[in-house]
Amino acid sequence: MADLLFEKAASLDRTDPLARFRAEFHSKPGEIYLDGNSLGLLSRRAEATVQHLLTEWRALGINGWTDGQPPWIGLADEIAQVLGPLIGAQADQICVTGSTTANLHQLLATLFDPTDKRRIILGDALNFSSDAHAITSHLRLRGLDPDTHYREVKSRDGRTLNDDDIIAAMTPDVQLAVLPAVLFTSGQLLEIGRLTREAHARGVLIGWDCSHSIGAVPHALEAAGADFAFWCSYKYLNAGPGAVGGLFLHRRHHSRGPGMAGWWGVKPERRFSMSHQHEPANGAAALQIGTPHLLSLAPLRGSLEIITEAGGIAPLRTKSLALTSFLMEAIDELLPNQGFTIVTPREEVRRGGHVALAHPGAWQICQALKSVRVIPDFRPPDVIRLAPAPLYNTFTDCIEAVRRLRKLVDTDAHRAFPPGREIVT
Ligand SMILES: *Cc1c(COP(=O)(O)O)cnc(C)c1O
Repeated sequence: MADLLFEKAASLDRTDPLARFRAEFHSKPGEIYLDGNSLGLLSRRAEATVQHLLTEWRALGINGWTDGQPPWIGLADEIAQVLGPLIGAQADQICVTGSTTANLHQLLATLFDPTDKRRIILGDALNFSSDAHAITSHLRLRGLDPDTHYREVKSRDGRTLNDDDIIAAMTPDVQLAVLPAVLFTSGQLLEIGRLTREAHARGVLIGWDCSHSIGAVPHALEAAGADFAFWCSYKYLNAGPGAVGGLFLHRRHHSRGPGMAGWWGVKPERRFSMSHQHEPANGAAALQIGTPHLLSLAPLRGSLEIITEAGGIAPLRTKSLALTSFLMEAIDELLPNQGFTIVTPREEVRRGGHVALAHPGAWQICQALKSVRVIPDFRPPDVIRLAPAPLYNTFTDCIEAVRRLRKLVDTDAHRAFPPGREIVT
């Protein structure tokens, strides 16, 4: 069986239209990196754009803001243009800034009205912790008690969310909902179009955390009418640890002005007037606060070049789905009756870019996998996440990773590793 799957993988790799991009990335021989949903690999292109910025800084000093190629002053706006097709929105609604969590704070500061009689913020029990921290601390800042004003949609199975449960929670006291496009644990992809429509039909503003979807799943946030979204760039966008993230604010909200203002959100032609009167830039750019973090923006310029050359998000999604389908097929074939359960929804429209494999010994298995040079990650309580990235992983990576996993469990090698520590690397 394994032989047949290796043959199938080789044939899929031969006909893979994205195969040539693997060479753009720094992967290590013999190592199978399946953690691109936590930190994408470094590409030569990202390395080059960082080096380019350092060279310009050395050569130009302050003049880099105007004389850099491209001028530093416009870099965030230029990148917003490139991100447009990934988010499915025109660039005037995108601001390249901050981090996931900081951007959620900014969007809440911009959109949430604590004086409205609808004052509940809706989230979900499975979302990334940081989103809940941002929401609850924001409510406190606005003088509201999160115990009564933050509501979480519960999960029925501890892994996934049910759309009907989310819709049922959008009661007339809810002002705003924040949901993940793709759940970071199970990899479930929520129905953004439907949930956005249902939210609006109920008078609820809705925003999406796209950290686990940008670069893996196509988005059409403007057409869907989503009110806002936010994301990081270090996962499937491969822009490096702490790279500058982004936010989307639908045009209908642009007249509000930024909740948290700073000089970099002022109209560019008025920024250096140093007026204490805040004159907001057009569009989502008004939500930029201070000087863009150029050193963390530079790698994004390079990594996005690769995505553009690859033909954008559509071919990435096609390959990503093929990789995850093949990975699940390999798991089904090679690891039956070993205590593994695939907890990612099987339907293509309901899954993002990774496969979540639950096992009671998940922590030990992750350590053991690393010792045989397969890089997954562990998420509590029992999930092994495997993310084959369409730009640099192959179908052979998928079957070889499963073969190494099978060998580990056959020999009980994972039991040599200390059990059950809740440490995430
Ligand atoms: C990765 C991730 C974050 C991380 O937030 P940062 O502010 O970038 O550290 C937040 N939310 C979700 C859903 C994520 O996947």
